[in-house]
Amino acid sequence: MRYEELDKRLKIVYSRIRYLDDYHWEIQDDEIKGVHKKSGMKVVVTTAGDEKEAEEKARKMTDSDAIKIIAVGDRGVFSIKHGSFIMTYRYVNSTLSDINDHIVWRGFKVNEEDGKLVQEDLYEYLGDRLIEHIKKGEIAGQDYVFWQFYRCEHCGRYVDLDDVETHLRGHGIKSYDNSVEEYEVFEINFKDRKIYNRFGSEVREGELSEEALEFIRESFEQQ
Ligand SMILES: [Zn+2]
Repeated sequence: MRYEELDKRLKIVYSRIRYLDDYHWEIQDDEIKGVHKKSGMKVVVTTAGDEKEAEEKARKMTDSDAIKIIAVGDRGVFSIKHGSFIMTYRYVNSTLSDINDHIVWRGFKVNEEDGKLVQEDLYEYLGDRLIEHIKKGEIAGQDYVFWQFYRCEHCGRYVDLDDVETHLRGHGIKSYDNSVEEYEVFEINFKDRKIYNRFGSEVREGELSEEALEFIRESFEQQ
């Protein structure tokens, strides 16, 4: 395959997304394949002549485990059909940035490998929240932030990442003994002044530790 021989539409889309260095890009046939570097999450970007052709393409792509984007030349298109994003060329770039914002660190695991200990980082793609944010036009950092919360094994309440050590110490648990920590990623939404879990359900005050409540109160005040 030679770059010069690529389909013009594919080249146009590629030329707009190749600056996004959160992804590693490869082009094969009529698809631009991306791997989100930190998480290993896959994305596939392809093109179609118009919306109708894009829908047909989306129907055939349902078995792929990647996040699928089909770019069309028509103006003002943005929809989700058969699990694929169908959109105007010029929205692809910002959607990939939005996807990057919605892939969030959710903990670590220390693995034994060839006589050494290797930390594996865990990530989560908050696809449901992404769709909600697009619908409402909410912007990361301005309208909401994601934060990691640890469900305390002793009292069952969620503690914000920065206060885990102190909180566990209060129960006599030493966090430095943990070789695995998995967090729940919650959304602190400044517009609604509410906390949502990954599915968009509200996290109630009673589920949060004292430290977490204080942390959230401070976050709201700073806005
Ligand atoms: Zn606790």
